[in-house]
Amino acid sequence: MQEILHFIGGEFKASQSNQWIDNYNPAEGKIYSKIADANHKDVELAYQAADKAFPAWSETPIEKRSKILLKIADLIDENFETLAKAESIDNGKPVSLAKAVDIPRAAANFRFYAKAITQFSGKAFESQGLKTHNMTLNQAIGVVGCISPWNLPLYLFTWKIAPAIAAGNTVVAKPSEITPMTAFKLAEICVKADLPQGVLNIVHGRGQTAGQAIVAHPQIKAISFTGGTATGQHIAKTAAPLFKKMSLELGGKNPNLIFADCNYEKMLSTTVKSSFANQGQICLCGSRIYVEDSIYEQFKTDFIAKTKALKIGYPLEASTEFGALVSKEHLEKVAAYIKIAQEEGVKVLTGGKQIQLKDHKEGYYFEPTILEVDNNNCRINQEEIFGPVVSLMKFSSDEEALNLANETTYGLSATIWTNNLNRSMRFSQKIEAGIVWVNTWLNRDLRTPFGGIKQSGLGREGGFEALEFFTEQKNICITFE
Ligand code: NDP
Repeated sequence: MQEILHFIGGEFKASQSNQWIDNYNPAEGKIYSKIADANHKDVELAYQAADKAFPAWSETPIEKRSKILLKIADLIDENFETLAKAESIDNGKPVSLAKAVDIPRAAANFRFYAKAITQFSGKAFESQGLKTHNMTLNQAIGVVGCISPWNLPLYLFTWKIAPAIAAGNTVVAKPSEITPMTAFKLAEICVKADLPQGVLNIVHGRGQTAGQAIVAHPQIKAISFTGGTATGQHIAKTAAPLFKKMSLELGGKNPNLIFADCNYEKMLSTTVKSSFANQGQICLCGSRIYVEDSIYEQFKTDFIAKTKALKIGYPLEASTEFGALVSKEHLEKVAAYIKIAQEEGVKVLTGGKQIQLKDHKEGYYFEPTILEVDNNNCRINQEEIFGPVVSLMKFSSDEEALNLANETTYGLSATIWTNNLNRSMRFSQKIEAGIVWVNTWLNRDLRTPFGGIKQSGLGREGGFEALEFFTEQKNICITFE
């Protein structure tokens, strides 16, 4: 059985304890590889390797660092088919999605930061008449920790690692224990790209042991984390007293506001995607759909029909549009929410049940599910399910729509469908979210700041924001005669 090993100081290693975790293929419900299970001792080794590599890497000319990142991007492209297949097997996502989104974006992350770092620099402030000159240096922090979730495994892992190493830091990183395969393959790519030993160290294992050891390590000076809000709170409690820099990208319960004056066909097909892409397991999915009452019934009929037409199937089949959920535990969590919905008197319009695929009866498949709610405060509309479950609710005025959208503890993203410019601008200003999409969804320009407000997170990733996060500014003040 394939072993997923740690990558520490440029070498592949099992855990010192020789403990392993089973790795499941969610499409088949079967164990298909085993993962080295790190504890604090392995994290310490990874830290030592990163610390040793830091002086030389942070002094490496930017052009050289940039070239290595570009080489990693090229190698991701060269291994496109292998990586897409690995991501699909490990996560349960349709291979078509891994090919369209996950793997191209992983390469784009390295390519983007290879270029961005060549344009990133400090500032100068000339105090005229005072014979004084100030300047700032953006200095690498040292050893930083990057922890990522299972939903977009390589995409989100590289979104952190690329800016961290571009800026001259060395890294101890942990992918989700549920989807470690492409991070393991990335380590092989880094060897081929001649990334110096110890610049990137990857430990595998559980959040509560390996992840916690990274967060609590006194010499790991910054933590970039993407995952659930409860985990983020726990991480903040551990890291804050150590005065670590923290970037927290957390959960969401994103509103999708549909007005009668929108481009209906574009809205409908995009809403199917924003609801069920990656089986609804994208933090940016629009899980609360609010529809203007004059088109509510028509939308409901059309949306149900389009959802029922989604091709649910084995993720590696090219035509599959909707694959398996990531794990048995997650499937059970999603199913439990359908029970909660029924107890709350919420109507199931379509879906709501586990599916047994003909040839893969043990896989973790669940129907794309549409619920109809009439009370925004129900648990279904307030708690993050992070699966293929969306709710519909009607509204009759702009004011009501805005209140419904903002009535949540989360604030990651929002989508608005309208052709009324005034309304789109008004809503964009008033909606409590880090990202607002108007007449589009998941449309990303990597230069823009990415992150949430309220309980969806702290700080921003993307563009120069991530390079700011992964550096410390130092002010130098010089006087002359
Ligand atoms: P978790 O919070 O469970 O885990 C995220 C990562 O943190 C995993 O690598 C996990 O390891 C690790 N971890 C868990 N506990 C600790 C700990 N105590 N200390 C350090 N690390 C720990 O999230 P999921 O993996 O379940 O991902 C789903 C969540 O991620 C959703 O809430 C979703 O909204 C959010 N998300 C947010 C995004 C954003 O950009 N805002 C983007 C994508 C997802 P392990 O898996 O081994 O337990």
